[in-house]
Amino acid sequence: MTASQVLPPAIPFDNTYARLPERFFARQRPTPVERPGLIALNRPLATELGIDISRHDATEWAAIAAGNLVPEGAEPIAMAYAGHQFGQFVPQLGDGRAILLGEVVDRCGVRRDLQLKGAGPTPFSRRGDGRAALGPVLREYVIAEAMHALGVRSTRALAAVTTGEPVFRETTLPGAVLIRVAESHVRVGTFQYFTVRRDQAGVRRLADYVIDRHYPEARAAANPYLALLEAVTARQAALVASWMSVAFIHGVMNTDNMRVAGETIDYGPCAFMEAYHPETVFSSIDQFGRYAYGAQPAIAQWNLARLAETLLPLIDADAEAAVRQATAAVNAFAPAFDAAWLATLRSKLGLVGESGDDAALAQGFLAAMQAAAADFTLAFRRLGDSLAGTAHAGALEAMFSGAPEFAGWHAAWRARLPASAAERAAVAAAMARVNPLYIPRNHLVEEMIRAAVTAGDFAPFEALNPVLAQPFEERPGLERYTLPAAPEERVTRTFCGT
Ligand code: AMP
Ligand code: MG
Repeated sequence: MTASQVLPPAIPFDNTYARLPERFFARQRPTPVERPGLIALNRPLATELGIDISRHDATEWAAIAAGNLVPEGAEPIAMAYAGHQFGQFVPQLGDGRAILLGEVVDRCGVRRDLQLKGAGPTPFSRRGDGRAALGPVLREYVIAEAMHALGVRSTRALAAVTTGEPVFRETTLPGAVLIRVAESHVRVGTFQYFTVRRDQAGVRRLADYVIDRHYPEARAAANPYLALLEAVTARQAALVASWMSVAFIHGVMNTDNMRVAGETIDYGPCAFMEAYHPETVFSSIDQFGRYAYGAQPAIAQWNLARLAETLLPLIDADAEAAVRQATAAVNAFAPAFDAAWLATLRSKLGLVGESGDDAALAQGFLAAMQAAAADFTLAFRRLGDSLAGTAHAGALEAMFSGAPEFAGWHAAWRARLPASAAERAAVAAAMARVNPLYIPRNHLVEEMIRAAVTAGDFAPFEALNPVLAQPFEERPGLERYTLPAAPEERVTRTFCGT
């Protein structure tokens, strides 16, 4: 007989946020639910995180995701933060229905948060119930995983469960919980939480934490806190360009929903634009188009200015000098975004090398799409197909039939491409690698939610995930997932995922 073995925990927690001063969070265990039922467990992601799935059966994983079983090594906390919501400052928000279980270091050495969303009330719940409804949980699961597959930095979904309990919104809905994975949940609003309390030591502690965790290279800079602001700005510019490249409208870019690590978070009222128009808005609470598709770069920069305000005392003891440096750092957003967006459009249009006319050429395509009300996603895809020959012959012309100027644009675009057939085939292939065919179209997401919520039918959820996991690879039998909504299917409004 050998001595009994002590197994390491199934989830190899290694927590750091819970080591920060107690005022950064509230210790809060999840509130157990009636009947946890596993909807999905993301095995590839679990493997990436070094989680040993085999250590628990489906019932136990459901209990973990529901918060009924707090796994060994977890130190559940609700994080404190503030934020500007639609321009209005709220000094205390905090995790009202999210509980951070802890962190793991993934297979690539990156520290990742594991958070339960919908796990019951916390000291930050205000009047909320701390719960999440099934629809928004499925929506976040599908869209977060789709964004990742599209190459957009995003929180991930590790698991989803039903709770067997109702939640009360405008109607009674089934409850659910999501395990969300993020590079961290520190937000612009987390910095604001300490600044509004005149807690300068807290701001410094948080900034040091963020530098160590996300931007270690800033530590070596002459001014680490300025370097932090510059690095966050650069990542945010790249992130917003990547959103716009896949027609994504975040919908609720409040400072509590912008994270300093530069990942997308909060899939509440988000939507995907179909017919291209920069003023497209879906969110029912965004009455003035503050967070419209084309407004996203400017609003990201506005949010970064709010972050900069919190860092001023750290950047320079001399207030004027601090403002000068911070302003320059934030103003670097616009050229960084413009460069990222132009690079994105170049690759979406298959333009190799750089020509001074590329920005105007790209603008011409956007203008033609707008005139023809062409579907943004399919227009880029069919443009590439138009080089490849017969597969979708005629589709492009049909899309642009409402824009007579398109023919001239198409000729100019072809003239900008290499001449040989072999090189053009390579351009077409490259375009198909950056222009997705399958995105989480709003009506597909709504249809998936409706089936689960009204009929307990998860087949559309099961079907949608694998389609969206390979957004660039055309496969037979999936045509309906490529099409914009028919008029009667069209989603015109989205609602906050509370
Ligand atoms: P969100 O709109 O999801 O970004 O949330 C904004 C704020 O409201 C955050 O502080 C959330 O924790 C809180 N919140 C949203 N829904 C609930 C809920 N059902 N119960 C408690 N707090 C909530
Ligand atoms: Mg939020």
